[in-house]
Amino acid sequence: VQYVYRFGGGVSDGGKGDKNLLGGKGSNLAEMASIGLPVPPGFTISTAMCTRYYEEGESFPQSLRDEVANGIAHIEGVTGKRFGDAADPLLVSVRSGARVSMPGMMDTVLNLGLNDQTVEGLAAASGDDRFAWDSYRRFIQMYSDVVLELDHGAFEEALEIAKEDKGFTLDTELSADDWRALVAEYKGLVEEQWGKPFPQDVHDQLWGAIGAVFGSWQAERAKVYRRLNDIPHTWGTAVNVQAMVFGNMGDTSATGVAFTRDPSKGDNAYYGEFLINAQGEDVVAGIRTPQYLTKDAREAAGAKAASMEEAMPDAYAELAAVFDRLERHYRDMQDIEFTVQQGKLWMLQTRSGKRTAKAALKIAVDMAEEGLISQEEAVARVDPAALDQLLHPTLDPSAQRDVIAKGLPASPGAASGAAVFDSDTAEKRAAAGEAVILIRTETSPEDIHGMHAARGILTARGGMTSHAAVVARGMGRPCVSGAGGISIDAKAKVMRVGGGREVREGDVVTIDGATGEVMAGAVPTVQPELAGDFGTLMEWADKVRRLKVRANAETPLDARTAREFGAEGIGLCRTEHMFFEAERITAVRQMILAEDVDGRKAALERLLPEQRSDFVELFEVMAGLPVTIRLLDPPLHEFLPHEEAEFAEVASAAGVEVDVLKRRAAELHEFNPMLGHRGCRLGVTYPEIYEMQARAIFEAAIDVAEKSGAAPIPEIMIPLVATRRELELMKAVVDAAAKQVFAERGREIEYLVGTMIELPRAALMAGEIAEVGEFFSFGTNDLTQTTLGVSRDDAARFLTTYVERGIYPKDPFVSLDVEGVGQLIELAAERGRKTRDGIKLGICGEHGGDPASIAFCEKVGLDYVSASPYRVPIARLAAAQAAL
Ligand code: ADP
Ligand code: MG
Ligand code: MG
Repeated sequence: VQYVYRFGGGVSDGGKGDKNLLGGKGSNLAEMASIGLPVPPGFTISTAMCTRYYEEGESFPQSLRDEVANGIAHIEGVTGKRFGDAADPLLVSVRSGARVSMPGMMDTVLNLGLNDQTVEGLAAASGDDRFAWDSYRRFIQMYSDVVLELDHGAFEEALEIAKEDKGFTLDTELSADDWRALVAEYKGLVEEQWGKPFPQDVHDQLWGAIGAVFGSWQAERAKVYRRLNDIPHTWGTAVNVQAMVFGNMGDTSATGVAFTRDPSKGDNAYYGEFLINAQGEDVVAGIRTPQYLTKDAREAAGAKAASMEEAMPDAYAELAAVFDRLERHYRDMQDIEFTVQQGKLWMLQTRSGKRTAKAALKIAVDMAEEGLISQEEAVARVDPAALDQLLHPTLDPSAQRDVIAKGLPASPGAASGAAVFDSDTAEKRAAAGEAVILIRTETSPEDIHGMHAARGILTARGGMTSHAAVVARGMGRPCVSGAGGISIDAKAKVMRVGGGREVREGDVVTIDGATGEVMAGAVPTVQPELAGDFGTLMEWADKVRRLKVRANAETPLDARTAREFGAEGIGLCRTEHMFFEAERITAVRQMILAEDVDGRKAALERLLPEQRSDFVELFEVMAGLPVTIRLLDPPLHEFLPHEEAEFAEVASAAGVEVDVLKRRAAELHEFNPMLGHRGCRLGVTYPEIYEMQARAIFEAAIDVAEKSGAAPIPEIMIPLVATRRELELMKAVVDAAAKQVFAERGREIEYLVGTMIELPRAALMAGEIAEVGEFFSFGTNDLTQTTLGVSRDDAARFLTTYVERGIYPKDPFVSLDVEGVGQLIELAAERGRKTRDGIKLGICGEHGGDPASIAFCEKVGLDYVSASPYRVPIARLAAAQAAL
């Protein structure tokens, strides 16, 4: 096997397709050389060698020594210099380079090949003593740090003292003699710490450095970085050995880093920094303040020091030409390193540049408009998940922050408002026009109205899939959950944070759902930009996607937001959220507390107009579009009070004795509400509830049709069905209500009755269920709970460990368990279609907004996905990518 691949001087053994073998750096150096860019010659030792090195107890095979000798001969041939030559030595850099960049994780040694003899040769050949000794001291310092692993603090200190003694502040002020003296001191330090003199044999130096680069792959920090970024340990790193070019040969030499476009805003303008008379590491190390690349950038920043464009116009012009060449060749924004040696430009690295979500969007759209890439490629280039950052208000990055606590970044966006500690107060103050932040130890379904009224939600307990987090994401409210450092006394209306500080009701706080930070006072926010590049990319995405995208929404506000974001209907309208509204909850409770059917009907009679008006508003927003309405789903006890203090008030509002309320609450108590008396089980036992809801839907739809001419298409969805018979009974209730309303109003509208597939039995029996049901919507939240036997509310305690230990690749409530739950979906889709040709299939629940899950929905051929309003654009883009 071949382990060494050459580049430069008209040879390229590899190219940009060889990332796995040569690493990102090595393959791109070969590629740049092959398209004729000025690259110092060198060779790459492949990642396969790294793997073998570790397999063979950290040793090198003899064959590698021969190949490396050939590689060095290649560099010598191109440069005309010899490695270790005392008169005019070849110097090299030894650089690490994995498949993906691991910034700052791995090591590089520059100026290798210097020793007490060759440094004199370098000085003589270059005619520059100062440069030679500067290079030597750099080499000893780097080699001691990276290869010998000595304490680098001592070396830095020695340099600082040398400068202080002379009254200098800059490295560039030191003379050849100063460096010579420092080299002597450095060599002393090496002997003192290492117990041996600094290695003088250039081949020993080379093999030491190669071993150190391979060794850095297993360094603790590199392992941690790989774990955090899902990089397999088996990949290994490559080693690049390359002829040195010198940016530290006086004022006609320089080194710099650049992006071909602005990686933070995305503007099509060169962006970067350079330093005159310096070597690569100096720019990142912040030894001196770097100068701007372009005159425009310098002027915009009001800086004095000349830009590269002004100081080195020829080299700059050459660099600008290389930028354009690279962008056209790679068809992407590039992040590059370069060095100018006595006026001559050399390229040392290129790769596709990392960028912010905003820049990714702008660059993709611009490049497509410039004709560099196609619209489809632009669509494919933007990470849908990253859009999340762009769709919510964010904190003004230049604003002051007084951080008082930190929790989990549970739902993106930032918001400020008055602290409130219960949902009723949140609703009251919000109704009076005040911005509020709801602060709870944890939230429950009873807090929905408060969460809705609040600008943001903060909880002391609960993880990323806690009730607060899930509901907040659904509503598009920023949320910080599980802020462990705070303690909340809801009775006293106070939150205690560290350092003896308190937040009382009405005090203004700010939360940042993207970072998990909680701040005292109001921090200004900036609004998202939905037109412009965002709008353009969405248009292109819509052209390629097949899946329709709907929203989960129950309020007119959410429905409007969803339409602004491009939703094509509602995939899930949860009617219970309407029941929790302050004005209705009393009627809901009277219905629950009624002793018989007549009492229940009387209470439902009072709810009917309220429910109808909910639907009227929703249908007006969604006129002409499908709206899937799920009939009542949660167990009834969720609507009753749980705390002693509330009983009296609730009883009197509902017009019953406290004892009656307590007895009824006790009767309704369930050990396992998730698997209890809920979903269609409510409809089977209390059909009058579903009857009222169906009536409200039909009356509202006809109202809207009469008013505006465009009726929505209600898709009435029966939840938690396990058997065909359940659905049959419930469909009969709905159809009867339809018949009655149509007769009363003398008008008919189109509607469908279908079911949610959210129990494994329903998936298995989908063939039979489709005989009755006219559509399926996969309720993947419950389907995940019931298939995995994991309760979402209790999972936070162990799921993180499960993901860390590789039991599930990702939180199955965030990204669909395609392997397991996915099988049930495929099977149900297949059986459903067999019975009812072309049966409408969709997905609701959190997964409908998750790109990986959407890709699965495309594969199975569902008709639509439904996501929370703020995730609609993410779903549109993900659906487009899935179709490409
Ligand atoms: P990193 O991955 O940390 O950027 P690099 O291997 O790219 O490490 O090198 C570190 C610095 O040294 C960079 O600024 C690079 O441009 C510079 N450098 C590397 N090799 C050479 C060389 N042969 N000649 C001049 N400078 C070099
Ligand atoms: Mg680099
Ligand atoms: Mg459900």
